[in-house]
Amino acid sequence: MLVHICCSVDSHYFLERIQEEFPDEELVGYFYDPNIHPYGEYRLRYLDVEYSCKKLGIKLLEGAYNLEEWLKKVKGMEHLPEKGDRCTVCYDDRLETTVKKAQELGHDKFTSTLLISPKKSQEKLDKIGHNLQSLTGVEFIFRDYRSGNGQEKQGQRVKENQLYRQNYCGCLFGLEPQRAAQKKIMDEMFNPISNQVLPESIEERLELYNNRTKLEEEEKEYKIIKQRFLNYRLLSGKVNAAKQTIPSYIMCYSTVNRNRTNGRVEYTKDGISYLNRDEVKLMSIEKFNELANTNYSCVKELMYNPLRFELEQEIRNKVIKNPFDLSALIVLDEIADVKYEINLHAETYEDVKEAII
Ligand code: SF4
Repeated sequence: MLVHICCSVDSHYFLERIQEEFPDEELVGYFYDPNIHPYGEYRLRYLDVEYSCKKLGIKLLEGAYNLEEWLKKVKGMEHLPEKGDRCTVCYDDRLETTVKKAQELGHDKFTSTLLISPKKSQEKLDKIGHNLQSLTGVEFIFRDYRSGNGQEKQGQRVKENQLYRQNYCGCLFGLEPQRAAQKKIMDEMFNPISNQVLPESIEERLELYNNRTKLEEEEKEYKIIKQRFLNYRLLSGKVNAAKQTIPSYIMCYSTVNRNRTNGRVEYTKDGISYLNRDEVKLMSIEKFNELANTNYSCVKELMYNPLRFELEQEIRNKVIKNPFDLSALIVLDEIADVKYEINLHAETYEDVKEAII
């Protein structure tokens, strides 16, 4: 039987039940989900499914990440709500591709872990699955493992196995209204040009779940816990000195009032220059190197190859001895006696992240 898999949260318990019900069946997992955006999130969900299948002793295949094809299929339906027609097309695509794969591999049955997902319409999936069965002759296995106390058990398995529990269905079109309703920025959908791993980003979760897998393999004791914290994203930033845009590195947790300010250096102490407006602090790359024990030759080098976020926070704390401070702290190649104009659009927001203890 070929089992289409959408994510480990849905697949782990579903596969356990299928294994129980079909003890003589050779089960093969098929991760085909071009609807998962962005690609980092897709990799993270695959990583977790791989980990879960390994635990269950189930072979796993990865389908193609046909993002462009998927986008073409849902064109014109981007703004429809979850569970609407866009989702039907999305189920169609995933089940159709799965049944084709089942035929190619010679399986006589197929199913999907989407059937256990609380946000998916079992009725629609059943209809699509049985249509495909009549077209191909590959039997569709419909199972409702979520009724009764199925969902509770599914939740228990996720906890026991410390699986990655995502908080959105998958596509950017579903995520956008969800984040808007939560009044939260859609931070999943952007990456800094620096490639710095930001707090509670997909990249940070990838690191965390890779560590989890390593700890499991080494049979070490660990637990994934949650922490509430103040998160930060720099959306854009630019510094002009005497009307010329110059390379600048805006350090984490830098904000300015109404996203823009200007001023001149009023006072300099220990290599830190204080602007006469909006609590802005400037330092040269030389001073940054001294504080960070690094050897950046210029600000551009720092922009494209920054320190880890936590180390940057340490430098910030060395300069501004207040962990709750949100003043702008900016690194420039050199500090001059000119008028600086600063555009800085950043968001600070309450967030929750996971950590391994
Ligand atoms: S909300 Fe989920 S099911 Fe619907 S189209 Fe997006 S990824 Fe597919």
